[in-house]
Amino acid sequence: MNEQVIGTIISVDGPVVKARGMSMAGVADQAEVGDQGLVGEIIMMTDKEATIQVYEDTTGIRPGQKVVSLGRPLSVELGPGLVGSTFDGIQRPLERLAAASGDFIATGIKAPPLDRDRRWQWKPLVSEGADLAAGSIIGEVPETTAVVHRVMLPPDVSGKLIWIAPPGEYRVADKAAVVELSSGEKVELPFFHRWPVRRARMLGKRLSPSEPLVTGQRVIDFCFPIAKGGTAVIPGGFGTGKTVTQHQLAKWADADVIVYIGCGERGNEMTQVLEEFPHLKDPRTGRPLLERTVLVANTSNMPVTAREASIYTGITIAEYFRDMGYHVALMADSTSRWAEALREISGRLEAMPAEEGFPAYLASRLAEFYERAGIMQFANGKTGSVSIIGAVSPPGGDFSEPVTQHTRRFCRTFWALDKALASERHFPSINWNNSYSGYINDVDRWRKEKWPGDPWNALRTEAMRLMQQEDRLQRVVRLVGPDALPDDQRLILGVAEIIKRGFLEQSAFDEIDSYCPMPKQIKMMDCILHFYHRGAEALKTGMNIVALMELDVVDRLRRMKADIANDKLEVFDEIRKQVDQQTQALVKEYA
Ligand code: ADP
Repeated sequence: MNEQVIGTIISVDGPVVKARGMSMAGVADQAEVGDQGLVGEIIMMTDKEATIQVYEDTTGIRPGQKVVSLGRPLSVELGPGLVGSTFDGIQRPLERLAAASGDFIATGIKAPPLDRDRRWQWKPLVSEGADLAAGSIIGEVPETTAVVHRVMLPPDVSGKLIWIAPPGEYRVADKAAVVELSSGEKVELPFFHRWPVRRARMLGKRLSPSEPLVTGQRVIDFCFPIAKGGTAVIPGGFGTGKTVTQHQLAKWADADVIVYIGCGERGNEMTQVLEEFPHLKDPRTGRPLLERTVLVANTSNMPVTAREASIYTGITIAEYFRDMGYHVALMADSTSRWAEALREISGRLEAMPAEEGFPAYLASRLAEFYERAGIMQFANGKTGSVSIIGAVSPPGGDFSEPVTQHTRRFCRTFWALDKALASERHFPSINWNNSYSGYINDVDRWRKEKWPGDPWNALRTEAMRLMQQEDRLQRVVRLVGPDALPDDQRLILGVAEIIKRGFLEQSAFDEIDSYCPMPKQIKMMDCILHFYHRGAEALKTGMNIVALMELDVVDRLRRMKADIANDKLEVFDEIRKQVDQQTQALVKEYA
């Protein structure tokens, strides 16, 4: 930690301020800018000048006013009170600020991110005298009905526990523990600690992601799964379903904690999130989803620089819960807005622009962000993960633009939303021909270890092959019409249609179908492919394709997703039997 350094402002250009007299400060130090003490960060230093990026509106800031470098990097507060809160990009608590200053948050207004007055019920879990490694869990606090907050030593503190607060009610800044470091120095720790947002927290051992993050969305779980600790990108133009998909994931993904970063450009995009989120119900508990969610939201009256910071604030909070041994899903909607903030800031710094005006460091910044996803095993045997799901909104839905292209290089799962599907009202509009998952083999291995002989990957491979064949056949059909195709190929078209309507389409608003558990997904696809196999055999006996596709069971296959309750898996055995009976009856009729 450096000393505080005081300098003088020499120029102000929107959110970028230059100051003199700060040669003792360092890049990445947090700064208080101007008479109001606005929050900023030093992003460039020469021997004469410091360039500071300011996270609040700089109206009223003038040359001659002072800048104080705090000698520590931009950090967040990590402790009880995070869950259920809404923060802005620099972790100001929006609800408490709004309560203090009204809807438009005045610049320079200050409130600590974690409420200093609130009392928490504390239960210590370690005894005095214990030798503790960095990151050790020392006690817990029931933060909400859904999340038990495990209070940890900071990642840079380890040693002998000299004293620990007895059970009782405490505020976050009260003394929680005293630790004697190996140097002999004794440090007093409150119930929270600070961590620099731009530095990844590295506790524990990195594992290779393989356990699927089940989302209950068939096109994701069955076709293009993401593993816990993995990365995914959802690119899609306006109206293709990015927000609905992100909300579905927030609601249903089997994560303990959700961190949702909203980088809206227009004010109303963010207001929508702020209004909708508190009403979302956690389907597991029936209680508000906010009880296991942390929201990071950029409001429209904040400068773009705050958007740039919000991604780091969000990921640092996510890593903190991961270090407690939780599985965290982080959604960023949309990273394009964040990249636009980078572009605007670099423009003001007169940096040499690269593709489409984005700075040349766009790719490395994206890489740094997605690299912070991961699954870790900790010394106490617990594992925790951060999965990152980033939405990208390419202008005009053109995936060749730089943000989509670079993001794609760093994410192993790609869920391509498709304008044409969305306009046919095929939702989720994830295009099965352009999307991919790099976790298929890992997830397959994980599943087979758990359930030897698990059929998922075999079913998936066959279904995807049929969909690719359908894609090729559709091109022929466009030229010559469907009647010119032989019956076995028309059967492929028919089965692909059942897969589309009956399996890939899934309404977020249907009471049953909003969530589809993995065992049901497998049974559904098994029934569809069983029909394909029986149908293909029947055709060989000379039966007619039209009669086959008109069987009652075909309609049943199309409707089973919403007709069959998620726990009534035995009904699928019945459907399988119907497939046998009805195809056999038809074969007899034609014999
Ligand atoms: P975007 O965020 O990409 O602009 P939205 O997520 O707001 O798009 O989706 C636009 C509309 O598409 C929604 O209002 C909804 O009617 C429909 N939609 C998207 N996904 C689904 C889904 N899974 N189920 C049903 N409808 C959906």
